[in-house]
Amino acid sequence: MSSGGETGEPLFERLALIGMGLIGSSLARAVARHGLARSIVGCARSQATRAKALELGLAEAMFEDPGEAAKGADLVMLCTPLGAYAEVAEAMGPHLAPGTIVSDVGSVKQATIRDVGPQLPDGVHLVPGHPVAGTEHSGPEAGFAELFDDRWCILTPPPGTDADAIEKVSALWRACGSTIEIMEPAHHDKVLAITSHLPHLIAYTIVGTATGLEESERAEVVKFSASGFRDFTRIASSDPIMWRDIFLNNRDAVLEMLQRFNEDITALQRAIRWGEGEVLETLFRRTREIRSGVIEAHQAGTFDTREREKFGPEEAVPEKALPREE
Ligand code: NAP
Repeated sequence: MSSGGETGEPLFERLALIGMGLIGSSLARAVARHGLARSIVGCARSQATRAKALELGLAEAMFEDPGEAAKGADLVMLCTPLGAYAEVAEAMGPHLAPGTIVSDVGSVKQATIRDVGPQLPDGVHLVPGHPVAGTEHSGPEAGFAELFDDRWCILTPPPGTDADAIEKVSALWRACGSTIEIMEPAHHDKVLAITSHLPHLIAYTIVGTATGLEESERAEVVKFSASGFRDFTRIASSDPIMWRDIFLNNRDAVLEMLQRFNEDITALQRAIRWGEGEVLETLFRRTREIRSGVIEAHQAGTFDTREREKFGPEEAVPEKALPREE
């Protein structure tokens, strides 16, 4: 392990990663690369994932039982789908010593506090987090150390959380390349409902609609997918369990955004039906400005920052890497 935290020393003695998929394994790689923990241990349900994590050198030991993995750790990071949180936290609770920090990477924050908080003994600090970075791939082989470079990491500590614990988790993510934003959990869930959860739901729906077509039409959807469909298929290939859990655990915010979306799409349907070209054009001009804002904020292009080396600046990736759209 190399450089360490801002002081040059590792920030943590023992990091326990509960879940060793895309995010857990990326964090293991980033922590190892930057020397942020003296040792890393992990936990996964399946023997196959545990063996693969050891083979890849992601952890010095892998456990099936979250309690065994968490024992003796000063930072425990939950990196499983949200639906496993309550069960994992219950298994870990009795093994956590006072002063331990428990954090996570889950995509919904009120549910984290609801499911994990009550299982933690007194003196254990809960600092929920969400790195706004990812790809559509899963598993320990899909991770890479650069995943969090130039990305936001949102922390949603409940009121009264120990300030040193928040700072230590912030320092970890900063050292992995991220910028920290502190948010109220409910606000986080609302923002992510529109920026992440609704787009995924729309992608799943469009791809689902296409799979419901006649067989001959389906073949043409794939053949001519570069006209737009292709980009939805990437999002809609994201992990089914992870996304099931996100929708079930951010129900209210997603339903609210979906309600607005339904109203807006009905308005567009009317505009098309009645030939109101100016309604369409006005909206399409407005949305183009949003795209420019996304590019200026360096949030465009690929989430795999390693591709910048292949293709140049982030915003140039889609143009250079992908065939032109019709
Ligand atoms: P993933 O690649 O599917 O990995 C999930 C890991 O959790 C696997 O190692 C799995 O073990 C393990 N696991 C599942 N249930 C478990 C249990 N009950 N006990 C112990 N381990 C268990 O998932 P991911 O993409 O890394 O996502 C993990 C979390 O990150 C989710 O909460 C998600 O909301 C959040 N997140 C994801 C992204 C993204 O783009 N993917 C971005 C930001 C945040 P097995 O392999 O043995 O099943």
